[in-house]
Amino acid sequence: MKIMDGHCDALTKLYVNPKLDFEKEDQELDVSYPRLKHAGVKVQCFAIYLSDSIQQPTFDHILQMVDIFHRKIVSHSGIRFIQNVQDWHEVEAGDQIGAILTLEGVDALAGNLTHLRILYHLGVRSIGLTWNYANWAADGVMEPRKGGFTRKGKLMLRELETMGIIADVSHLSTAAFWELVEGYNKPFIASHSNAQKICPHPRNLSDDQIKAIIQCQGQIGLTFVPYFVDSVNLAVSIPGLLKHIDHVCSLGGERQIGFGSDFDGIEQWIKGLRHAGQYENLIEALCKNYNETQVEAFLFGNWRNFMLTNLPK
Ligand SMILES: [Zn+2]
Repeated sequence: MKIMDGHCDALTKLYVNPKLDFEKEDQELDVSYPRLKHAGVKVQCFAIYLSDSIQQPTFDHILQMVDIFHRKIVSHSGIRFIQNVQDWHEVEAGDQIGAILTLEGVDALAGNLTHLRILYHLGVRSIGLTWNYANWAADGVMEPRKGGFTRKGKLMLRELETMGIIADVSHLSTAAFWELVEGYNKPFIASHSNAQKICPHPRNLSDDQIKAIIQCQGQIGLTFVPYFVDSVNLAVSIPGLLKHIDHVCSLGGERQIGFGSDFDGIEQWIKGLRHAGQYENLIEALCKNYNETQVEAFLFGNWRNFMLTNLPK
């Protein structure tokens, strides 16, 4: 079965530790070529995320990560960079794994919309507006003042819409989420978030937020971060994740469900989902609970529909 994963932080690990090898099965890398291949991951999103350890993130840091993406990931003969619908179709028809480049947090763009456009030229196709805290554009969900977008942030949103870069609301504050719903006229995604109703964490989506994503025909990447799956049990297992699927379905979002693992961005894992090579455990659990059409849609088909509609032609 084909799989698409809407979010991982392997690039950050490769940036922090240049010795890690994407081409080999490396215990320290949840997402590596052998693991993706073993699991049947057909399309993987790679986020440029400048970790907290970088005191003053600059555009140069972003460029260094774009360089790593090219040298260490896309350079592999089994990987193909997806920048448009045509690339997607070619990946689907062939043996290669597709890689989509995304940005998590616009901090390092420092309000410069030229930098934003350069990222588009470099192939970045989705942008998460914030990480957990405030930046020049908007507040993140853990920022105590709970603000929305700045004036410059709203200009950036308009630019994303014009260029056709997909807006990603995972990590965004609630106020900014609703401003985006008002001011952004294209479908948007939450690449790695779960349902608050099942696990009341601020990083998860409220029912109203899930409904807004369904309304705009966006996409939700349900995530494997244990404390976003279950707030009660310490040992989180795959059935806990399925509760989020059932809940989003109950709100009418069956066609909006995908996965966004957050592999390589986490230090705790769901039992049975320790790394990308273990997707087979998720597939097995899905097949016990849903019919084949649904399982295929959750793993790949829903993301596929979204991307074919929202990637540049
Ligand atoms: Zn994240």
